[in-house]
Amino acid sequence: MVAQVKGVVVSGVAGLVIRVEVEVAQGLPSVGVIGLADAAVGESKWRVRSAIGNAGCKWPAARVTIGLSPADIPKHGTSLDLPIAVGVLLATEQIPKDCARDATFIGELGLDGALRPFRAALPAAIAAKRCGISRVYVAPGSARQVAVVPGVEVVVIRDLEHLVSVLRGESLADAIPEADAIGAMTSTVDMCDIRGHAHGRFALEVAAAGSHHLSLLGPPGVGKTMLAERLPTILPDLDEQTAIDVTSIHAVAGRLPLAAGLVRRPPFEAPHHSASATALLGTVRGRHTIPGALTLAHGGVLFLDEAPEFSRPCLEGLRQPMESGIVRIMRAAESVDLPAQFQLVLAANPCPCGFAVGKGASCRCTAMAKRRYGERLSGPLRDRIDIRLEVLRPTMGELAAQVGDSSVQIAERVSRARTRAAVRFREMPWSVNSHLPAGELRRKWAPDASGCALLIEAERGGLSLRGADRVMRVAWTLADLCEVDVPSRDHIAMALGLRGADRGPTDD
Ligand SMILES: [Zn+2]
Repeated sequence: MVAQVKGVVVSGVAGLVIRVEVEVAQGLPSVGVIGLADAAVGESKWRVRSAIGNAGCKWPAARVTIGLSPADIPKHGTSLDLPIAVGVLLATEQIPKDCARDATFIGELGLDGALRPFRAALPAAIAAKRCGISRVYVAPGSARQVAVVPGVEVVVIRDLEHLVSVLRGESLADAIPEADAIGAMTSTVDMCDIRGHAHGRFALEVAAAGSHHLSLLGPPGVGKTMLAERLPTILPDLDEQTAIDVTSIHAVAGRLPLAAGLVRRPPFEAPHHSASATALLGTVRGRHTIPGALTLAHGGVLFLDEAPEFSRPCLEGLRQPMESGIVRIMRAAESVDLPAQFQLVLAANPCPCGFAVGKGASCRCTAMAKRRYGERLSGPLRDRIDIRLEVLRPTMGELAAQVGDSSVQIAERVSRARTRAAVRFREMPWSVNSHLPAGELRRKWAPDASGCALLIEAERGGLSLRGADRVMRVAWTLADLCEVDVPSRDHIAMALGLRGADRGPTDD
């Protein structure tokens, strides 16, 4: 007799539904697995055999063949234990015939029949839903993640013995446990912690409203990190799809408590400048995809402090994802695409020693060293940064000034501005000003006559074509924040100001 059960494995950061077929035939007792299984899946037969015995059921004294399909996709990990066990029980008629229809079983079995939570339960459940599966059997520790997928019935089971009795209709499933608080994703910082830096606070608001990449140039210890780490606090909540993607990524990376629910807030990733290209871009180790900082920042902010100190492969590796929103990891047989749509914040010192500010009296760097430092951030990378802010040490007067708006107040304005842009671009494939393609910008989205006049003036004064494009994108965001329909001369003038420093590592 042949039984069919659906299971899920993880490929990259997504789930992949696998059909498990179990055939029990007459012959010498034996067990074999076919269909590109790795060692962990191959060993599954021994774990399942013990687990079935310990659950009070019988392993058949017959020839057992376990087939996994699609046969051409490598399968790895231990998530197929449970579907294999269910397949054997079905094929030997120890559980009702139709109980696995429209259902999948997610979990790892211990030898004693205990069911362990599966780290990537959310992507697994999403893949199952896409294949028309409406019921998911999981361990209590995975139940919260599966419960966030709409249209999926979650059946919580403790161990194999419990599962058998639930499938036979002899007992009830457990209740879904309460969600844990998500420590890693809740922010404890707020914009109102920042004293002085009025210009910096405003630049952050504009960057958030138009999703513009941002660079911060200034001497060490002046507050660049403090500014950058508050950007996520004024960004809107993640939309449903991004929230699911972000939760899947962080679950696969082992960054989330197992019982956590959906991540709703944009993540903040700040890799150190000594990080390897692998740590930034991600890698495949053995059979496991390990997302890098770019992917962990998906939907949120990637902060590179002391950006010119990052290795060249790291900085070059940023370019492709910044264009496509995807990072591609090559491995021997195949390539894996991981999502990486992030907002970049670069921070840099004005020179290697960090003191070339003002008249630069205390800077001891040679002209050559300064130029080399500046050149480490390549042109194509700099071209994507719309807002370049020079961060200076606040004066005593500025520090004593009134406390500014809180993150909640600013987030409110950011959200209104984003809504204006989204309505304007409703027919377009983008929804924020920073994603406006250059060609479109010139054809359809010119500022008003006074704005155009100022822009032409600036171009005569040496503003490059690409520089002008960036100014126009930022001017649109300023117009959205001011709730006007077309950018005017004032918005262009402000955007020119936010283009910032005409020297140092991030100038044109
Ligand atoms: Zn210096």
